[in-house]
Amino acid sequence: MAVKRNLFPKGTAKKPLKGGGSSTEIDLRAEFDDFIFGGGSSIAHGSTFLLRKMRRGDDGKLISCPCVDKTTYEPDTEDDCPFCLGEGYFWDEEKIIGFSGHLGAEGGKANRLRHIAPGSVRGEFKIFYFRYDTDISYRDKVIDLKLDTEGTPVVPYLRESIYKPQTIIRYRSDNGRVEYLAIYCREDDAIRVDE
Ligand SMILES: [Zn+2]
Repeated sequence: MAVKRNLFPKGTAKKPLKGGGSSTEIDLRAEFDDFIFGGGSSIAHGSTFLLRKMRRGDDGKLISCPCVDKTTYEPDTEDDCPFCLGEGYFWDEEKIIGFSGHLGAEGGKANRLRHIAPGSVRGEFKIFYFRYDTDISYRDKVIDLKLDTEGTPVVPYLRESIYKPQTIIRYRSDNGRVEYLAIYCREDDAIRVDE
C-alpha cells in the first residue's frame, strides 16, 4: 500500500498571496538603484559598460552581416569587418550602468596554475549586476570599457574585454518580482580587444 502523506500543509496551497505586510520590508529595486546610481545613504557605486544587443528581424532571428561567407557561414574576421567587428550579425551598442565583480575559483587568480585533476575544469567568472529591467539575452555581449586609473572611461571609448553571458540570473523576491540581474561570464571566454 502506498504511503499517504500531505505534500503541503493542509489548505495553504489554496490561499492567495496577500500584499501588504511589514512596511519595513526592503525594496531591492530601490536599494539597487541607490547603490548603483547613488541615493539614500549611498554614494554611486556603478560603472559604465556597453551592452551589445544583437539586432533581430521581424521574424525574431538575428540579422547576418553581409561579410558572412555564403558557403562557410563564417564572418570575415581576418579583415575586421567594420560593421559587425567579427560578430557576423548586426548589433547596436548602448551604454549601461552596473556593477561588476570577479568570482575566482578555489582562491582566485593566484591558484590558476595549480595542478588540477585531469578532466576537471576551473572556471573564473566575471559577474555583472544590472537593473531588473535590463533587456539582455544569451546572444548579447557585455563589454568592459577601458578606464583610466580613476575609474573614468577613456574617451573616445575603447572596448577592453568582450564577455558572452554564460548564465543570466534574474534575482526575484519572494513574490516573484525581478529585483536585479546577475550576468555570469567566463573569464577564459572573454575576447580581449587589442588597441
Ligand atoms: Zn561583418
